[in-house]
Amino acid sequence: MRCTVGVLVLLSRPFSLVAIQSFGQPHTTHTMSSDPKASIAQMEKIVSLCKRRGFIFQSSEIYGGCGGVWDYGPLGAELKRNLRTAWWNTMTREREDVLGLDASILMNPAIWKASGHVDTFADLMRECSLTNKRVRADHVDPQSGTVLKYSGAQSPTGWRWDRTITALTKSGEHIESFRKRIRALIAQNAGEAAGKPEEIELVGEEKIDAVNGSVDFHPETGGLLGEARPFNLMLKTYLGPTATEDDVTYLRPETAQAIFAQFKNVFDSSRVKVPFGIGQIGKAFRNEVTPKNFTFRSREFEQMELEFFIKPDEAVEIISGEVAKWHEGADLSEPQPNWGWELWHRYWVDQRTKFYQGIGLGDVLEYYWQTPADLAHYARACVDILCEFPFGTEELEGIAARGDFDLSAHQTASTKSQEIFDEELKTAAAKLTDEQKEALIQKRLAAEAAKTKGEPMPEAAVRAWFERLFKGSYVPHVIEPSAGLDRMALAVIAKAFSETEKVDEKGKKEVITVLRLHPRVAPIKVGVFPLLKNKPELVAKAREVYALLKKHMNCFYDETASIGRRYARQDEVGTPFGVTIDFETCGEKGPELQDTVTLRHRDSGEQERVKISELLGKLLPLVS
Ligand code: ATP
Repeated sequence: MRCTVGVLVLLSRPFSLVAIQSFGQPHTTHTMSSDPKASIAQMEKIVSLCKRRGFIFQSSEIYGGCGGVWDYGPLGAELKRNLRTAWWNTMTREREDVLGLDASILMNPAIWKASGHVDTFADLMRECSLTNKRVRADHVDPQSGTVLKYSGAQSPTGWRWDRTITALTKSGEHIESFRKRIRALIAQNAGEAAGKPEEIELVGEEKIDAVNGSVDFHPETGGLLGEARPFNLMLKTYLGPTATEDDVTYLRPETAQAIFAQFKNVFDSSRVKVPFGIGQIGKAFRNEVTPKNFTFRSREFEQMELEFFIKPDEAVEIISGEVAKWHEGADLSEPQPNWGWELWHRYWVDQRTKFYQGIGLGDVLEYYWQTPADLAHYARACVDILCEFPFGTEELEGIAARGDFDLSAHQTASTKSQEIFDEELKTAAAKLTDEQKEALIQKRLAAEAAKTKGEPMPEAAVRAWFERLFKGSYVPHVIEPSAGLDRMALAVIAKAFSETEKVDEKGKKEVITVLRLHPRVAPIKVGVFPLLKNKPELVAKAREVYALLKKHMNCFYDETASIGRRYARQDEVGTPFGVTIDFETCGEKGPELQDTVTLRHRDSGEQERVKISELLGKLLPLVS
């Protein structure tokens, strides 16, 4: 969870060092995969499968690609759509208290100023002194080697570089290979003026020292890194034909701000009461310093965000007489009127966990509960739901309790009230005695005085806030579960990827890839196969079954190659079911098997006979 405002620079944690907590469990320490080579090999296989079978392609590949952006092929598009639908249905359609929104990507830049993104949505970035290549400061892995220094470089063309060059040898690198590599890097950076790399002379070589575990050298080039500097991640563009500085706006770096900006419109047009939520799915853009790990860290990606608006705890206390406290084992199944932010936050962590269980990721999740030191001054709690990827355990979703920070920021900047009126609160507050009201104020003043982060609210402001509250008016607080669709797609593919060794009919060993995707997210739900393609009656029947099923789910008809080969092709793309039409279907082995098919289950390999008339009823609940 990156946060803005009050924190100048926003860093992701190095995962080899963070404390990871299972949901409600004590802390344990997590380290990255112990075998980096195996992790890389696994990722290479996944990337290759994604390309080969049409899940994910490099954007603009025919022109050499485009850094940090990806295209989803036919199967990837289906997979993403299934994940999107699962999120949308779970988070909005199946709930009475969440509404949907589909806001624009381009917005008035004042939104990004008010939200804090213009001033503080930045990563710390360091630049290679040799090549100017940038790297995120917290993405530099510790390196060991020998440091060499040169007072400059020159070439027979007359080109000179009068600056100190400091670089680290790679592990096991011979000094001659090192010099050759440095010359090549310098030549690449200097362009034609420097002439041929092999003719560049490195001047005044000095061996400085051997270093161990240093994070001061660029991971690819070995060049000394400069000071860490903040780098704003928002992608600028111009809105309007003049394209001057006055027309600058940004591609949204998150979908959440549009929800805050439209909060009042949704509230006023939908006859809802707090607590309620607004959910949105859409593209977001971040000029990531070092996009990496395939689609995990992209520059263009899709977010699925919910802003769930709740009453301030003081309003809950006035209405219910108390604010329920969270404890281990608390019943989170049904929201209760006496829930304050803490239980609502726990509730959403629980709901999101159940969602991930429902798409097959239940057993690869971990939880990082941010410590008070991690939290932004306005945030009450934030948990990152982490998932095991081949390259380590990384964030899939952040769930934050953000108080009234966002709506209040927009209220101040836009001067448009973001308060709502709560009749129930007004009625309950009218029954309080002056002493009871004063006790509530004193409790809040004590809490403000005990704050360790951010400025305490002055007493006059606290009293003014309570005056509005006692009349039933407040700016709602918010719980924000914020997930990334592309990371989720990669997580389900990585989790599903498996390889088994098989020996074919000729005794040849073969590695078979099976994507054990959850049927709910699998791009193709059923493969339909006539046993033989040269038997018109089998083909006609198979076409009939295909036509029956495809109206309800994504199916694939295939009549080429052996039936085993056809099963294997579908296993490789994660199709959970196969339906084979054979001679029994046509009644050749007796009337009792007529109009039945073989239903094959990908994961167990189990095959069962199912009546065509019962096929849809059997498959639909399994895939939706
Ligand atoms: P990270 O720490 O990994 O950079 P973040 O904390 O900045 O992520 P948030 O701002 O909380 O992420 O965004 C919410 C979700 O959006 C993340 O949990 C992630 O799933 C997704 N997301 C954020 N940045 C990217 C990105 N560059 N590429 C793909 N998904 C992303």
